[in-house]
Amino acid sequence: MKQKIVIAHRGASGYLPEHTLAAKAMAHAMNVDFIEQDLVLSKDDIPIVIHDIYLDDVTDVAQKYPLRKRKDNRFYVIDFTFDELKTLNITERFNPKTGKQVYKNRFPKNKGNFKLHSLQEELQLIQGLNFSTGKNIGIYPEIKEPKFHKKEGKKLTEIVLKILANYGYKTKKDNCILQCFDAKELERIRVDLKSELFLVQLIEFPEETKQLNHFATYADGIGPWYKQILGKKSADKFTFTSLVTDAHQLNLKVHPYTFRADALDEFTTFEEMMQTLLIEANVDGAFTDFPDKIVSFLNKK
Ligand code: CA
Repeated sequence: MKQKIVIAHRGASGYLPEHTLAAKAMAHAMNVDFIEQDLVLSKDDIPIVIHDIYLDDVTDVAQKYPLRKRKDNRFYVIDFTFDELKTLNITERFNPKTGKQVYKNRFPKNKGNFKLHSLQEELQLIQGLNFSTGKNIGIYPEIKEPKFHKKEGKKLTEIVLKILANYGYKTKKDNCILQCFDAKELERIRVDLKSELFLVQLIEFPEETKQLNHFATYADGIGPWYKQILGKKSADKFTFTSLVTDAHQLNLKVHPYTFRADALDEFTTFEEMMQTLLIEANVDGAFTDFPDKIVSFLNKK
């Protein structure tokens, strides 16, 4: 693996609607190292590449199937067959309550012709592009909400591992990093399901960073929120928590999320964000909606 990797977060999602094949092809052309797939099962057990278990903030499901919502007013991927899901149009992410686009300077809402797709369709795209361009760009699939899938009687993890193996992703050499927020599930993938893939434990809450020693027994890396790396700003300079050095001592790679040029928060510029986290904090990779910017930043370093 390269010293510092660029992971196209939901594809080149700063420029095209997230998780569309167009966004994945664009990321591939930007020479990223890995392209991300978030995975949720359809009613007929096909892994769909989509960020949430819900459909209503990235598709026109509420117009096309108004009667198919659950009591909580949400439309669930798992309630639709693959053929039904294919009838939906994907749009740039919006708030289903207000209808407002989340990132207002991104691809315009309700424009273009984008459809949902399966994991297999995306692997064929990436492997096809790897062949036609002579590149070897990796995949970075995420098992979404294992507890929810289990409650619904679904075996998301087993289905995904089988498809990955069929497409040649079996060991750490195969250019695939498997990620999950659920620590029990990721441990089960290593210990019970005996996966030899490179595994990354995603971290949502700060208290989970105390479990690094345990994560290191089954995972090869961690994916924290970038704010868990930053300490208090003193005299206008960023300081850092011990997370990256602690992880490195345990031989864990650190791939924080999410680098967004249009949501900078504590940083003044995207350049400052990249310099602070990738160089000064010395992380090993970045999940980003703007992969071209990080590829060019790292090429100059
Ligand atoms: Ca993800």
